[in-house]
Amino acid sequence: MTVPTVQLNDGNSIPQLGFGVFLVDPPETERIVTDALEVGYRHIDTAAIYKNEQGVGAAIAKSGIARDELFITTKLWNDDQGTQSAFDAIDRSLEKLGLEYVDLYLIHWPVPSKDRYVEAWKALEQIKESGKARSIGVSNFMVPHLERLAAETDTVPAIDQIELHPYHQQPPVTAYAQEHGIQIEAWGPLGQGKYPLLELPEITSIAEATGKSPAQVVLRWHLQRGFVVFPKSNSRERMAQNFDVFDFELSQEQVASIDALERAGRVGGDPNEG
Ligand code: NAD
Repeated sequence: MTVPTVQLNDGNSIPQLGFGVFLVDPPETERIVTDALEVGYRHIDTAAIYKNEQGVGAAIAKSGIARDELFITTKLWNDDQGTQSAFDAIDRSLEKLGLEYVDLYLIHWPVPSKDRYVEAWKALEQIKESGKARSIGVSNFMVPHLERLAAETDTVPAIDQIELHPYHQQPPVTAYAQEHGIQIEAWGPLGQGKYPLLELPEITSIAEATGKSPAQVVLRWHLQRGFVVFPKSNSRERMAQNFDVFDFELSQEQVASIDALERAGRVGGDPNEG
């Protein structure tokens, strides 16, 4: 199965489906990422704060998969928003991952109260220049944060990774991103299991009609809306299920019925705080 790729505003491309490792236990990470690579995933989303970059790196090294077939993302943690601290942070992440570069480096949260994300973004511009990250982007940036980067820096982020699932579709940011060529990545694509998304009649009826599982229906909705997704699961069976979403299509009506579930239902942290 070849996962479709999406072209970014810097000319690089990213596999539209990947595997996320938030809350994957560090000691279990090597095994779980090895399973994901065996299932066929080639795009892995980690972060310094997940404390499992080492396990991701060990699985990559063991896999023998060529570096240019992989797409690896990691993120700059909030405490490291600064020029030298960002340079040190990427070096630590690369060492743990056992890599010479990451495909994508993101500022994890804007943390507006600290007011250092513009400085951090300028550091990421230099990190891209150095070749340690092929693409750079942000995460949890809302429209005012993106507008400040546009006003005060030279580079438009390639990516904004935000909480996005049927109850929380983030219309203002997704519209801004589309207008400015920023690719949206949807974190928590299955709502992190924090509300009974997979039991909603709007989802289960489409699952019955298409012969796919509710999770596959929701992931298919993300893909058809143009988002990049990387669902997380420790179970190999679910990893395989989540990867098997390219042999069916939702109708326009089915997509619209999931669009209609929007209710500003955030399940994670508020990017305007902190
Ligand atoms: P998710 O929406 O992927 O949900 C994961 C939950 O769904 C798990 O409990 C899992 O058991 C369950 N699940 C997975 N596949 C299933 C299936 N087929 N059927 C039924 N249940 C299934 O939530 P997530 O892990 O938080 O988000 C995905 C990735 O996004 C993370 O792993 C991480 O890489 C990234 N993320 C980024 C941020 C950020 O601030 N940038 C925040 C959270 C997550």
